Amino acid sequence: MIQYGRQLIEQEDIESVVSVLQSDFLTQGPVIEKFENAVAEYCGAKHAIAANSATSSLHLAMMALEINRNDLIWTSAITFVATSNAALYCGATVDFIDIDKQTLNLDVSLLEKKLQQAEANSNLPTVLIVVHLAGAPADMLSISKLSERYNFKVVEDASHAVGSSFNSKMIGSCEYSLLSIFSFHPVKIITTAEGGIITTNDHSLNEKIRRLRTHGISRNDSFNDGREELWNYFQEDLGYNYRMTELSAALGLTQVSKIDRFVSRRNEISEQYKWELRTLPLEFQKFPENAKSSYHLFIIRLKLDQIKKTKKQIYFEYLENNINVNFHYIPVYRHPFYEKLGFKKNHCLEAERYFLDALSIPVHPGLTQDDIERVIGTTRTLVE
Ligand SMILES: *Cc1c(COP(=O)(O)O)cnc(C)c1O
Repeated sequence: MIQYGRQLIEQEDIESVVSVLQSDFLTQGPVIEKFENAVAEYCGAKHAIAANSATSSLHLAMMALEINRNDLIWTSAITFVATSNAALYCGATVDFIDIDKQTLNLDVSLLEKKLQQAEANSNLPTVLIVVHLAGAPADMLSISKLSERYNFKVVEDASHAVGSSFNSKMIGSCEYSLLSIFSFHPVKIITTAEGGIITTNDHSLNEKIRRLRTHGISRNDSFNDGREELWNYFQEDLGYNYRMTELSAALGLTQVSKIDRFVSRRNEISEQYKWELRTLPLEFQKFPENAKSSYHLFIIRLKLDQIKKTKKQIYFEYLENNINVNFHYIPVYRHPFYEKLGFKKNHCLEAERYFLDALSIPVHPGLTQDDIERVIGTTRTLVE
C-alpha cells in the first residue's frame, strides 16, 4: 500500500534517539533546548518552545493570549479540528471563514467583509488562527494589514508549513503573527513521533508559554529571598504538563537538518504530478507567487461533472489499487460536536464543494519513482 504521507527515518535519527536512552535524561534534559534552538534558527524566530503535540501547542498559544469565554476566535473552515478545539478548550466562541477556491486557504476578501460586519455589530474576533493548508502559505501580508485595521491578533497553525516561506520569510519566523505552531506528527514534514513547537519573537509570551507548559510553575531563586520556608519552585498560573520528551527532541534534532531536502523532494514530486496529470479533469491548489509550499499534501480537485463518478467511488477505487489516498479535511463545523454548538451544513459553501471533490494523493520523500508512476497511472485510469 502506498501511503499518502509517511515519516522518513534514517540511521542517524536512530542513533540520536539511542544515545538519549543511554544518557541521564529522558525528559527535561539538554536536547530539548538544542532542538528548540535549531528550529528557531531554521525559521528565523527569536524563541521556540517545544511541546508534546501541536494540539497542546495551540492550547498553550490560546492560554498565553489569555483567551476565555468572552473571546471570539476565527479560523479557516478547512483545517484539522485541533485548530479550533484549542480555542474551545479556553471557553471561547469559534467561527469559520470560508476558503478561497484557488488557494484553499481562508478567503481574505470574505474575511474583510466579515470583519466589516463584525465591527458594525461590535463582535470582532480577538484572534484569527491562520492555517497554511497543505503547506501553501496564506496571504499573510493582507491578513496582517487587516489585523492592524481591526485590531485582532494573528496566530499561525503552521502544522503543514515546516519549510514553507512567504515573501522570502520562513513560515515560523512570525514576521506577520504573534505565534506560530508546527506539528511533528509522523505524517508531517519532519517528525518527533508526537510533538509540536511554538515560535515567537515576543519575550514575555515565550516566558509565559514555558511556564504554562510545566504546570504554570516557575523556578527562580529570588522567590526565596526574605522567606522563611524553602520555596524551590512556585506555581503562578494554571498550566499543564505539555512537555516534550528528550527522545522526541533527539529525533527532531536530526530531522531538522533534513527539512530542506525533504521539502525539495516533495516539490519535485508535486511538479511531476502537475505535469503528468495536466490534461486530466483535475484542478490543483494555487498559491501566491512570492510563496513556497512545503507540499505537506498534494491535493487534487476532481471535476466531477466530467468524470461522472463521486469522490467516494474514486476514493475506494484508489484503495483497491493499493493507494491510500486521504482527504483533508471535512469542514470543521460539520462534525457532530460542532453541530451541537449550533453550526449548520452549508455554513461555508466553498468548503462544502471542496468536501465533495477534493482528495490528497501520496506525497512524501520516501516514495520511489515506481510509486510515483503508479499513482500517476492509477489516477489516469480512474478519472479519465
Ligand atoms: C496535524 C495537525 C494538528 C495537530 O497536530 P498534532 O501534533 O497531532 O497535535 C493541528 N492542526 C493541523 C492543521 C494539523 O494538520
